[in-house]
Amino acid sequence: MNRRGEYVSSADDTIERECDHCEWHAVAGSYPELIKRYQDHLRDEHPTTWLRS
Ligand SMILES: [Zn+2]
Repeated sequence: MNRRGEYVSSADDTIERECDHCEWHAVAGSYPELIKRYQDHLRDEHPTTWLRS
């Protein structure tokens, strides 16, 4: 193990979002992209939740 190879706690590069309703998750480079992907997922997979939100 070299020191520079250890875990880096950088939230800047990629952001991850898990679905509250299933196992789905997405990784994106920006919050707007991630929100869009999550909303697309809700609309497709959880239309009831999508309509209520
Ligand atoms: Zn889901």
